[in-house]
Amino acid sequence: MGVVVPGCLIVGVAVVVAVAVAVIVARGFVVMAVIVARHGGPLSLRAGVGPRRAAGGAGATSSVRPRYTRPVSPEPPPPYDERDAIAARVVQNATGEAGPWTLEVYPTLRCNLSCQFCDTTDRHRPAQRELDAERWGRIVDEAADLGVRRIMVLGGGEPLLAAGTREILRRSRARGLTGFLTTNGTRLERFVPLLAEIGWDEVHVSIDGAAPETHDRLRGQVGAFRQSVRGLCALRQGAPGTRRGIHTVVTRENVGELADIVRLAASLGCARVDFDHLIAYRPEQHRVALGVADRAALPQRVEEVLEVAGRLGVETTAAALLDLRGAAAPPASGAPGLGGAPCLKAWHHLVVQADGRVSPCCVLAGEGAPVESVGTTWRADPFLLRVRSTMLAHAPLPRCRECSQNILVHERAIRDRLPAGTAS
Ligand code: SF4
Repeated sequence: MGVVVPGCLIVGVAVVVAVAVAVIVARGFVVMAVIVARHGGPLSLRAGVGPRRAAGGAGATSSVRPRYTRPVSPEPPPPYDERDAIAARVVQNATGEAGPWTLEVYPTLRCNLSCQFCDTTDRHRPAQRELDAERWGRIVDEAADLGVRRIMVLGGGEPLLAAGTREILRRSRARGLTGFLTTNGTRLERFVPLLAEIGWDEVHVSIDGAAPETHDRLRGQVGAFRQSVRGLCALRQGAPGTRRGIHTVVTRENVGELADIVRLAASLGCARVDFDHLIAYRPEQHRVALGVADRAALPQRVEEVLEVAGRLGVETTAAALLDLRGAAAPPASGAPGLGGAPCLKAWHHLVVQADGRVSPCCVLAGEGAPVESVGTTWRADPFLLRVRSTMLAHAPLPRCRECSQNILVHERAIRDRLPAGTAS
């Protein structure tokens, strides 16, 4: 007990401080004054320390170069850019046989929150029969055997509710995969010992407001903000080597808090904040989607976010919010075939959802057949083959209009890295 009690106290104090900071932020005060007073120096220097990993998958990052308030020298070497390796994998898959670079898994569609804008959980569809832990373990093994290097453990629903998630995390690390876990954070605290034990790389927590009441309203549960911040604090204390990030869906309810969310992230020691536009097609989603005035004010808000993020050393995808593609199809480039394809996901990415059905991306989740062996599915799943042929013809499927701008920015960056003349 002599060891446990002080640890709890430390976490408890950290939670109280973090929540207090968030409240101050929400009321428009200058939170950095508090942080500087507590830490004796700008937190940006803490948040920005350490090697930068390449932006991952769906959360492609417009990396914001931190503007430190103290001189830093010498310049660190440029980080390894995963997109170069993914481009090489695309070429391998187009000209011969390799596996996907990334495996994205949704262990469950069940969730313990009721987010206003969410359409992916089983609130709106019959409950699925989920793959069990043993099958998930074999899927990770088959993927690793095929050359998969990255894994994303996401929802669907809340992955930390699923029986298979611990096995996925353990097996992934045992097979040398790197990756990230995205969670609503409400159950994160109890997973911290495992994440520390296996040396998990990165955790993203969904936070949709700098003010607790904004987040709780959007997430449909009073106290959700407190639980999620508590989870991030516990992670910081118990698994300090695990990189932390925040993911935010931008709505009319939180668009005025974007810069404060970045400040909150910095105060929690998070390395990045990914912002995504809400793709609205259900009435409850339209109710919280950005209005005309919100969109008109967006450039100014994004400018503020980038300034704050740069100053605090937090990476962010905020710049992509300005690309209001609307419901337009993902654009091709002028090059023929693969070299100009609107999206290359089907050559480097495989999604397996809770019931085992596959797709090349989250937007098209569940459209393919149930996974056989990962290798057989990757080579022969009819839906994957169809997506590849539509992309080669520069005629994406109609549902590709729903695609996230963050994904398309990432895909464009990979396409730009293909060798000149890549055509098929
Ligand atoms: S929705 Fe279409 S464009 Fe978007 S990632 Fe999926 S396949 Fe690519």
